[in-house]
Amino acid sequence: MKNRKITLSEQEIPEKWYNIIADMPNKPLPPLHPETKEPIGPEALAPLFPMELIKQEVTTDKWVEIPDEVRNIYSIWRPTPLYRAYGLEKALDTPAKIYYKYEGVSPAGSHKPNTSVPQAYYNKQEGIKRITTETGAGQWGSALAFACNHFDIECEVYMVKLSYQHKPYRKVMMNTWGANVFPSPSEATEAGRKILAKDPNTTGSLGIAISEAVERAATNEDTKYALGSVLNHVKLHQTIIGQEAVAQMEKVGDMPDIVIAPFGGGSNFAGLAFPFLRLNFDEGKNIRCIASEPTSCPKLTRGVFRYDYGDTVGMTPLLPMYTLGHNFVPAPIHAGGLRYHGAGVIVSQLLKDKLIEASAHDNIEVFEAGVTFARSEGIIPAPEATHGIATAIAEAQKCKEEGISKTILFNLCGHGNFDMKAYEDYFAGNIVKHELTSEEINRSIAELDTPEIK
Ligand SMILES: *Cc1c(COP(=O)(O)O)cnc(C)c1O
Repeated sequence: MKNRKITLSEQEIPEKWYNIIADMPNKPLPPLHPETKEPIGPEALAPLFPMELIKQEVTTDKWVEIPDEVRNIYSIWRPTPLYRAYGLEKALDTPAKIYYKYEGVSPAGSHKPNTSVPQAYYNKQEGIKRITTETGAGQWGSALAFACNHFDIECEVYMVKLSYQHKPYRKVMMNTWGANVFPSPSEATEAGRKILAKDPNTTGSLGIAISEAVERAATNEDTKYALGSVLNHVKLHQTIIGQEAVAQMEKVGDMPDIVIAPFGGGSNFAGLAFPFLRLNFDEGKNIRCIASEPTSCPKLTRGVFRYDYGDTVGMTPLLPMYTLGHNFVPAPIHAGGLRYHGAGVIVSQLLKDKLIEASAHDNIEVFEAGVTFARSEGIIPAPEATHGIATAIAEAQKCKEEGISKTILFNLCGHGNFDMKAYEDYFAGNIVKHELTSEEINRSIAELDTPEIK
């Protein structure tokens, strides 16, 4: 029998997270105050996040200790398996060797609990009673609900009303772990009430849901806010994925030439890729890392490197990032987790410095890739995850054309078991290829009134 699944023991769960900032040749530029546009320090984040996470947001230490209690909860599903994709290799008839790291084995079904658990832990340490957040498709909300339940913290989730109505099972999942889920906009906040008064039938947006969650945290002493992507501490926590993958590849005496992951705000990409980039920095290896995004939200491949707001309203600090402009509204593709206008700060700087690459795939291509994968490997991927598969397939096909073998590793960051509507739409021929014109992109970028980066 071939060795398909490469596993590690619980004792091999990494003891530290890897902070790539320590190794970056150009450090990320500072965030700016949204109004004064002057650099701000970490203390500006204190109303929203516990101190320990703020420290992790700005630390330049190369390694950060993972608390025992967090490792203990990680052991429910970690180390996650790394698979050799024999079935996919055969289906593609490629000389390439393909591997994937599978994060869908977590209780919430994606990589997101890797950060929700430590975030809930540090909040608990600082006596916080309630954590608020927003969720679009429901992946982040369910990961945070799972983590808060573990630490007996109240969890309040503002779920974009459209998803609340269309994805009832993600909501029930959050309820099962004890979270309160509100369709956003809600009557629970000033921001929500204002919007409902104007338009009682609105289906909501991620920008509105963020405003509601932030308002609750900012106006209650015992309440903090949590974010599931983009920020440095979120990327830090996710590096557990790549550290395990490095150990698993070493275990089979192989090493990837190419590492690939889907890209929304950058956390699962960072999680898998940063520990391999460390090998480039420390050992002079030359591993290519590619972020995969949808052509309908192409901030990495067609955006600009600029200071921009994290939200639509313009309340967050200005961050230096690849962006399509905070007013950019992506087409309503099923990969809800990738519909964000900007990229995290660290990943943006790495792309600017050409230390990583990016590629984009259209809506039809990713579903073809997802179905090819489901039929050759068995696991049904989340719509977000199909983007990484599409890049892996494209690279494997290049190997076939050129008659060379390369080793490819990608992140299967979540399963699609709650996303049957997406697959149903695909099989019914209701998925359309959406062409984004340069005019559309230039319009939202032209609306930016934020400082240029020289
Ligand atoms: C949230 C999510 C993403 C996008 O977020 P990143 O921070 O870029 O990882 C991608 N895939 C899945 C399954 C998600 O839940």
